Amino acid sequence: MRFQTRAIHVGQEPESKTGAVVVPIFQTSTYAQAAPGVHKGHEYSRTSNPTRDALQECLASLESARHGLAFASGMAASSTLLLALSSGDHVVSSDDVYGGTFRVFDKVMRRHGLEFTQVDTSSIDAVRAALRPATKLVWVESPTNPLLGITDIAAVATLCRERGITLVVDNTFMSPALQRPLELGADLVLHSTTKYIGGHSDVVGGFIGTNSAEWHERLKFLQNAAGGVPGPFDAWLTLRGLKTLALRMETHCRSALQIAEWLSTHERVENVLYPGLATHPGHAVHARQASGGGGVISFRVKGGLDAARRVCSATKLFFLAESLGGVESLIEHPAIMTHASVPVEQRTARGIGDNLIRISVGIEHLEDLRADLAQALAHA
Ligand SMILES: *Cc1c(COP(=O)(O)O)cnc(C)c1O
Repeated sequence: MRFQTRAIHVGQEPESKTGAVVVPIFQTSTYAQAAPGVHKGHEYSRTSNPTRDALQECLASLESARHGLAFASGMAASSTLLLALSSGDHVVSSDDVYGGTFRVFDKVMRRHGLEFTQVDTSSIDAVRAALRPATKLVWVESPTNPLLGITDIAAVATLCRERGITLVVDNTFMSPALQRPLELGADLVLHSTTKYIGGHSDVVGGFIGTNSAEWHERLKFLQNAAGGVPGPFDAWLTLRGLKTLALRMETHCRSALQIAEWLSTHERVENVLYPGLATHPGHAVHARQASGGGGVISFRVKGGLDAARRVCSATKLFFLAESLGGVESLIEHPAIMTHASVPVEQRTARGIGDNLIRISVGIEHLEDLRADLAQALAHA
């Protein structure tokens, strides 16, 4: 079965008792047993729940993973994965990782004895140089946020395999409709399903997929032990989002490319960061490992902080809000909003300046979106 068909059918047989074609929301915490220890596959909903099972099975299939586990949020997925490590273990990550991921590394897991090194993972030499005997995990995002940097996932996977190190790819920005890290050699794929997978800005969730039975057993144990699971209704909403993922991603990509090209020629725009543009430094690698540029664009406006602030405040269709990946377009100012917790020197060194704006291109009509940005840029 192809991707679009699996999104609608895998894990989603009509319900056995009634024939309901949609997987029901099994809003239950426990399950009656016929005799002590004799049950129908479920005992308690932290451990397993049929609605969550359907989501896990379907999303695993879309990520070309044999196994999948759903979590209460992307951060619950990340934190649970880090619980698999032990004091003294070392992690190498992209220097541009999601802010919440950096926070849990730096402010939580460091206290528990894990060590972290952040490097520009777009350079394979930088990744190699950062590896130590204690390195257990390499953590990559491609594209990164908000600078849309690209890492050659297959090259990092080869390096990790030689050294017996686990590679995890946070695939939130691409979704499996555009990029499938396990097919490129990664050991684990991680998601904030809050973004493109849920797709409607109405649910928070996370996911980890793998082909390794050993990793699956370890993470399944931790999912139950630590308990960061999604409720049945959240699992159901996310599963509903999956059904239209491929359709939505096509529109996100098509509109974002047109907007990125148009912004590149705009007199008030200094430069545009979008991996779908041929001028992007990671374009060739990205085109090899993903089938579209995605829906997120960052750009720098001429005129500094004030100009950027005016543009962000002037859009009408693009809501000024954090997050991304929903059907509605969003605009935000990374230095003031999503990346405010990154110290200013680090922000500046990495290129997250005061004139940087990030947009998440939704699935509204392209011409309405372009007109909205045009009138907002007139305020710059
Ligand atoms: C949002 C996000 C996360 C965190 O996910 P939550 O669902 O908000 O906990 C992790 N990684 C990336 C790339 C994200 O965009």
